Amino acid sequence: MVLCKQWAHQKLKKHYPTEQLRIFFSKLLREIVKLNKVRICSVREMSDFKFVVVSLILNGKPEEALAILSEHYNVNTPKLRVGLPKGHKAVAYGCYTSKTETISVLSSEFLSNPFVILHEFYHHLRSRNVDKVHRGTEKNANKFALEFMKT
Ligand SMILES: [Zn+2]
Repeated sequence: MVLCKQWAHQKLKKHYPTEQLRIFFSKLLREIVKLNKVRICSVREMSDFKFVVVSLILNGKPEEALAILSEHYNVNTPKLRVGLPKGHKAVAYGCYTSKTETISVLSSEFLSNPFVILHEFYHHLRSRNVDKVHRGTEKNANKFALEFMKT
């Protein structure tokens, strides 16, 4: 696993996912889903989990990343759409609408941006209360996203 991880990191640096890499990630994803059933508890497993989440996003599979994140944190899987909601005035790459549990990104290129996806997922995590209020500070959302990307 560790060897595979190093190898994949090198591949990812080039940012051109090969077919082999795609197969590797789908295998890894299946492993992670299995791990999830017994709950991820060790630091090593958690770092592999984060690695897979980031890798899935980088490889253009944000829906799969959101699905395993939601399973892990035991929340509904947020919807994902391209284009910010109408009336969204602030200049942003992404935004989270708690009422519809939807993560919106400015354009399709941000679907493969782990920072944007994870930042918005953090807002989703923090707003799952009954009142559906947009919670969690921007600073904490950035911290959450960076924590994943350190792996
Ligand atoms: Zn934010």
